[in-house]
Amino acid sequence: MIVNDAHCHFFSTAFFSALARQKADPAPKVGLYAPTPDKRTHVEADLQVRLNDLYRGLQWDDPGTPEALADRWVQELDASGVRRAALIASVHGDEASVAAAVARHPSRIVGFFMLDPSAADAPARARHALSEHGLKGLCLFPAMHHVPLHDDRTLRAVEAAAACPGAVVFVHCGVLSVGVRRKLSLPSRFDLRLGDPLAVSRLALAFPHVPFIVPQFGAGLLRETLMAADACANIHLDTSSSNGWVRYTPGLTLDAVFKAALAVAGPSRLLFGTDSSFFPRGWQRGIYEQQKAILDGLGVGSNDIALIVGGNFERLFPL
Ligand SMILES: [Zn+2]
Repeated sequence: MIVNDAHCHFFSTAFFSALARQKADPAPKVGLYAPTPDKRTHVEADLQVRLNDLYRGLQWDDPGTPEALADRWVQELDASGVRRAALIASVHGDEASVAAAVARHPSRIVGFFMLDPSAADAPARARHALSEHGLKGLCLFPAMHHVPLHDDRTLRAVEAAAACPGAVVFVHCGVLSVGVRRKLSLPSRFDLRLGDPLAVSRLALAFPHVPFIVPQFGAGLLRETLMAADACANIHLDTSSSNGWVRYTPGLTLDAVFKAALAVAGPSRLLFGTDSSFFPRGWQRGIYEQQKAILDGLGVGSNDIALIVGGNFERLFPL
């Protein structure tokens, strides 16, 4: 059976540099995450020292160049029997890192990138990333960037993606917690009201030829995610992460979540993912084993399981 992972993070040196800058200036006055100009020179001067401290504190490996990190990912996929993975550039402005990874391993890596629609050049960035850079997924985190999904700035970014053949739009909804920010004690002033799957349905209806992906079954907003998926045939759900949000609904199990998602969206709109991110931990085999066991336990047929764990990914991202 072909396994493709629709949700992994590409934690590049540029990603960690952004976190190190935020850690050096945790209370920026401009925007949410941008360092204040007066502190920038000072921070840049000892950025490498700060990065080394950060890796040591996290006990994570230095990712090195994007090419080196791409090679590490491919080694990891090989060792795990995974054919392809979507790797997300996980900070605004880091498209080039994941683009370098895609250029190095085009048959193994599909490039996604986080975009902050409040950036003045957001639509142009999206166009550039999805055409020149060869990336495939525009990732919106409305709760993080404080830009509502019904805002015109979001619409302009999605419009730009819709004009690029083969592009998908990924929208993080529901609860958002970024483990690495917590570990580094970085403030995360996320506005959870903005990650509303029903607002994704409005976008998905406006761009019916664009596949939308709501990760983690809507991360706590399962009912709204299923309503959105029922209303829009172009909304897909990814199964990634440990799905710890199930604890918000008393008695809910991941088995029941899969059952409901299969009943509403069907097997051709579920995309297996792990949410793997850093090394040395690497690819999260346990997530695969847990979800495969659930699908087997529900009596899902082997053709449908093949779609969920790999086939739908191949259809969305043909080589
Ligand atoms: Zn993720």
